[in-house]
Amino acid sequence: PEQIVVSDLAQRMAVKAREVTKLLMKMGEIVAADEAIDQATASLIVEEMGHNPVPVSDTKVEDDLQEAVEERSSNVQTRPPVVTIMGHVDHGKTSLLDKIRETKVAPGEAGGITQHIGAYHVKTERGVITFLDTPGHAAFTAMRSRGAQATDIVILVVAADDGMMPQTEEAIDHARASGTPIIVAINKMDKSTADPDRVLNELTTKEVVTEEWGGDVPLAKISAKTGEGIDELLELVNLQAELMELEAPTEGAAQGVVIESRLEKGRGAVASVLVKKGTLNQGDLVLAGEFYGKVRAMTDETGQRVKSAGPSIPVEILGLPDTPAAGSEFLVVSDEKKAREVAEFRANREREQLLERQNKMRLESMFEQM
Ligand code: GDP
Ligand code: MG
Repeated sequence: PEQIVVSDLAQRMAVKAREVTKLLMKMGEIVAADEAIDQATASLIVEEMGHNPVPVSDTKVEDDLQEAVEERSSNVQTRPPVVTIMGHVDHGKTSLLDKIRETKVAPGEAGGITQHIGAYHVKTERGVITFLDTPGHAAFTAMRSRGAQATDIVILVVAADDGMMPQTEEAIDHARASGTPIIVAINKMDKSTADPDRVLNELTTKEVVTEEWGGDVPLAKISAKTGEGIDELLELVNLQAELMELEAPTEGAAQGVVIESRLEKGRGAVASVLVKKGTLNQGDLVLAGEFYGKVRAMTDETGQRVKSAGPSIPVEILGLPDTPAAGSEFLVVSDEKKAREVAEFRANREREQLLERQNKMRLESMFEQM
């Protein structure tokens, strides 16, 4: 007879092995996580936990789609780095984003950056840099929890007059967990109370050892208020990007990630997306999360209409029927039938997962009452 090890079963249901052994115990069977149970008991467990394991064939829907898209992309080239600014509250994340935006976008250039679309890109002497301007760890983790790796480099802002704080440490942990390189920006250098050496010393306790201290973490001392050191900081970003040899195909069906989305009166669902591969064109059929639609219009962060966007370039798109969650992957598909199929598949899966969670909660509260 077929047997399955308890921990394997738990893994397939995405629950802890202990939850399964607990349930088995309630069912009168004392089994360890590394022991096997028979098929009948296993299906009973699955039923009890209100879970339908995803049949392998279902993931084929996604795999086929991915393959079709990959086949159509070509012409690999260097792409701009995507940067997220992180750090403790009040250490100057927003001020830095604003200062870069203000100083790096020529006043005449398409009227400057006027729209908040969740990201913007600037041109430096050495190349384009894209900033995700929804600072904060919530956005970063929301994307990561959906498996979207949108950020190439983290700028860790630490106020020179305040030093390492809880959210500084948290940011370091997030960057590490995702394998994203850090550049340290010691901010508020214009203040008389600035003590950068103390800050750098504190950072070493989290194993962030800057170049000044013999480590390899790039460091810039800046003031988001006066603009001091910002060019040097951007130069460090460019150097880091070169080191990483960031590349993407520039041609073919676009793929990327949803940065944020919202419903707007008169415009409908508006989604800010960041292209990661290929080129997104007006008129493309886009599948984003569980929704699909034709891109009716695209605008950049200056509010200008654009017809296309390549790798690492953020744009706002109109034409989706609803708002996909931040961190959802989007991709351009050639045929509407396929788009509908995958969208339905995903919507079903979302529903199932929701039901599953509800069932599990019900089950848990039931046990608690016993
Ligand atoms: P955030 O919470 O990290 O986004 O921090 P903010 O950008 O909102 O800045 C918090 C406060 O610090 C604001 O009052 C800013 O004006 C001030 N601030 C930010 N950067 C500097 C700087 O370089 N020098 C000085 N003196 N003040 C700054
Ligand atoms: Mg802020």
